Amino acid sequence: ALSEAAEVAMADAKRGGDNHYRYFTEELNRRAAERLRLEERLRVGLAEDRIQTWFQPKVDFQTGEVVGVEALVRWQDPEWGWITPDRFIPVAESVGLIDVVTERVIRACGQLHQRFQRACLSPIAFAINLSPRLFQRPDITRTLLHWFQEYQLPPERVFLEITESLLVDDEVLAGKVLHELRRNGISISLDDFGTGYSNLSYLRSIPVDELKIDKLFMGELTREVGNAAIVNSIIALGHNLGMRVVAEGVETEAQVRYLRARGCDLLQGYHFSPAVPADGLLEMRLENQVM
Ligand code: C2E
Ligand code: CA
Ligand code: CA
Ligand code: CA
Repeated sequence: ALSEAAEVAMADAKRGGDNHYRYFTEELNRRAAERLRLEERLRVGLAEDRIQTWFQPKVDFQTGEVVGVEALVRWQDPEWGWITPDRFIPVAESVGLIDVVTERVIRACGQLHQRFQRACLSPIAFAINLSPRLFQRPDITRTLLHWFQEYQLPPERVFLEITESLLVDDEVLAGKVLHELRRNGISISLDDFGTGYSNLSYLRSIPVDELKIDKLFMGELTREVGNAAIVNSIIALGHNLGMRVVAEGVETEAQVRYLRARGCDLLQGYHFSPAVPADGLLEMRLENQVM
């Protein structure tokens, strides 16, 4: 038989366990509630057209020209303030709102493209981030082409930014879809390159027009041997495979000089400009044209 002391100890342990369990479920509940509130705010934000698209220039430093932009979604809530995409894109993905968000982004790109046309500016390329969740839709090609048509954005002007994570489920199927998109004039850009875990064999079967070196590798290029070696290798790899190479997260003159010397094709980063609203981009491009 258990001694009285042991019984007391066991009861304590159980209570302790209960407390631990209760704490754990409270934490889960708190997070679920937070997501739910964010989802609700996002629905309101979409209904009130508060989810905006800003544009970050991609610069060809040989000519100094803005040859393209990356469309980046922006959300300012009247009560919560700015909410970053890193926070709400995952929620949009999990509650089935990523389609609507992406459609808004494409609409904004189409509108800017038309403003360029009206201003008689030479057209630029629009890079659009494609969520793996959206890519999984069986009718993704048709859906995208439908949006491009509806919002008058020529597919020839579109770069879809994808990440390696899109290839993990079914590389063969993903390759098929990407080939199909490409046959329709769309270009494919491999985003965050160098941060994934897959081996590089997929580069033989996946059609890629552009590699984007992740900003993770931009830190102290001139000093840090590791980063410089990785950046050099990515540029060489991309060029050997006939791809264009873009560096993102370029913040300093030293990085610009380094990347130029290494033959990187395009640069993107705060050194040139953060993402700005359509008006700002148009102004920037008008000034360029004058140069
Ligand atoms: P990403 O596609 O890797 O986008 C680049 C991020 O780096 C952007 O953050 C951009 O503002 C930021 N950035 C640009 N230049 C610099 C720089 O010089 N230094 C630093 N430190 N950062 C720089 P943002 O706009 O907060 O977007 C974060 C992520 O959210 C994006 O990463 C992308 O994965 C996702 N995202 C943004 N817009 C969309 C969208 O329309 N659809 C989807 N599916 N995802 C999006
Ligand atoms: Ca991107
Ligand atoms: Ca990126
Ligand atoms: Ca990223």
